[in-house]
Amino acid sequence: MRKEEIASRVAEVDERIAAACRAAGRDRDEVTLIAVTKTYPADDVRILAGLGLRDVGENRDQEAAPKARECADLPLTWHFVGQLQTNKVRSVVGYADVIHSVDRPRLARAISGEAVKRGREVCCLVQVALDDDPGRGGAVLADVPALADLIAGAPGLRLGGVMAVAPLGEDPAKAFARLRDVAVAVQEGHPRATMISAGMSDDLTEAIAHGATHVRVGTALLGRRKLFVR
Ligand SMILES: *Cc1c(COP(=O)(O)O)cnc(C)c1O
Repeated sequence: MRKEEIASRVAEVDERIAAACRAAGRDRDEVTLIAVTKTYPADDVRILAGLGLRDVGENRDQEAAPKARECADLPLTWHFVGQLQTNKVRSVVGYADVIHSVDRPRLARAISGEAVKRGREVCCLVQVALDDDPGRGGAVLADVPALADLIAGAPGLRLGGVMAVAPLGEDPAKAFARLRDVAVAVQEGHPRATMISAGMSDDLTEAIAHGATHVRVGTALLGRRKLFVR
């Protein structure tokens, strides 16, 4: 039952992504679907993996760490997409392959230290506050270049690119157009930092139109969450 439900939702989301790519004149394989599995159990992650998904996202370490352990046998890339406290870095670096929410130097240095300790490389994205209000996470625009440089030069880190959440109440297309400008500026100094993580269940079409390489989709794949988790 649950498997059929998720399979049909995955097919719908895949079709939306394909349509957005066609409309934007982009290849379908330029966009990676990250299934955001927060509040949903490891069994759902297993179903997604069985359907061929390879990328999963979580936003709280308390929930993600045990789930990643339960799913350690699956061929998955784990993306950490939530606000991250430095005291959680030790745990998160234990399972996350990509951290989308790097928004301050102290956090980047903490991830670097932990990555070096574990002898691994963690891909980091600079989270950008597109409304220039760092309250909900994200670096203000003026701070992005220096943070990108710091990540690119930090041992154990690889600069993947940029990430953002469209500000509430703003036309997401306008917000994602700004993110693309930021991404292009970062790529001038770091040509391999090509990832643009943007777009969720409600705005993935606009994000793909403006260059998103990774969309982070929860609700459209797994259903409306019962708990409020930002
Ligand atoms: C929850 C979450 C998503 C997924 O949101 P949906 O609207 O459920 O698709 C994407 N990105 C981040 C950072 C999230 O916290």
